[in-house]
Amino acid sequence: VTGRPDPGVLLAPPARPGDPLDAIDTPALLLDLDASDANVAALHAQAVAAGLAVRAHGKAHRCPRLALRQIAAGAVGICVQKVGEAEGFAAAGVRDILVTNEIVSPDKCLRLARLATLPGMRIATCVDDPLQVERLAAACASAGSRVDVLIEVDVGQQRCGVETPSQALAIAEAIDRAAPHLALRGLQAYHGRAQHLRGAGERAEAVARAAAVAREFRAALEQAGHAVSEISGGGTGSFPNEAGAGVWTELQAGSYALLDLDYRANAVDPAAPRLRQALGVMTTVISRRAAHAVLDGGLKSFAVDSGLPAMRDPRWKVVGLSDEHTVIRPLEGAAPLALGQRVILDPGHCDPTVNLHDWIVAYRGNTVEAVWPVLPRGASR
Ligand code: PLP
Ligand code: MN
Repeated sequence: VTGRPDPGVLLAPPARPGDPLDAIDTPALLLDLDASDANVAALHAQAVAAGLAVRAHGKAHRCPRLALRQIAAGAVGICVQKVGEAEGFAAAGVRDILVTNEIVSPDKCLRLARLATLPGMRIATCVDDPLQVERLAAACASAGSRVDVLIEVDVGQQRCGVETPSQALAIAEAIDRAAPHLALRGLQAYHGRAQHLRGAGERAEAVARAAAVAREFRAALEQAGHAVSEISGGGTGSFPNEAGAGVWTELQAGSYALLDLDYRANAVDPAAPRLRQALGVMTTVISRRAAHAVLDGGLKSFAVDSGLPAMRDPRWKVVGLSDEHTVIRPLEGAAPLALGQRVILDPGHCDPTVNLHDWIVAYRGNTVEAVWPVLPRGASR
């Protein structure tokens, strides 16, 4: 056994509570708790003032400990995108979960139906086709459980969702026929693309159009005698618009607890609280030249679908990433970096960056406060 590497070293968290930041093993995902707590408090306060519930989206962070903090800060529950995420959050004690997505395979329907048997569990998912309703109903019948259903309406995202009120009516009738195993809770009306429009005016217009579509579908269902008690949607980029629209009953914001460069590129909406960058990735300078420095994290530590990460110290510019390296160049006035020095970068896109990491190192000031596990990549199933 001598000389055999200990896999426990690799699975161990990169830091311990009480460590100073420069003792963190890198690359490591970091969460500035002062910034995250402020973002959570600000968004929750604005939602409550507008009469909306917050159902924090767990896909952003996949971190049960953070979800429990959001619930303690007033979120009614969480959203997830995947059954595997629902299982992970449920195992940590979350008892109100909405899958903001369609599932269709019988095995996934059965896993969801089984989760619904947990004591105190309130669970829902989205549908946009009678076949999903049929499969969910069969699964709940075999598990002896009930799952709530939101009919997803395409309000501009051009992804999932029914396109006509008559499709929604046919699905609502199928849900009614599946009682007591399924119950219609309402509508999913999510327009994600609106959130990433850069101008506050364009976002407001796109959300106003989405609201009109959601109103039309709600009216059609109500006229046919179906109760629509929830309309769920919205997110970090556009929540003041959804909050002001008078249609949505709950917000599905996720990124707000973390933030990323993509959202920081949005023009500020005067109606929105200024959200702070809470997520970061810490790396170490492993090599130096006169004209650049090299960091020990690259494409395996940062998602780059929304652009390259940026150095938190703006006097250093990221020039490129490879699998395990990032090359940075000094700009005017840059302080020299020492070999072995830790530096923090802000990621372009939070959700897929978190997915690359196993731990979130939560810190305040210069001290690690907690180290939280992240649900693994398999949670995408
Ligand atoms: N709801 C759904 C269906 C989503 O797909 C997403 C994110 O992509 C969100 C809510 C949360 O959005 P955000 O993280 O931008 O707040
Ligand atoms: Mn995202």
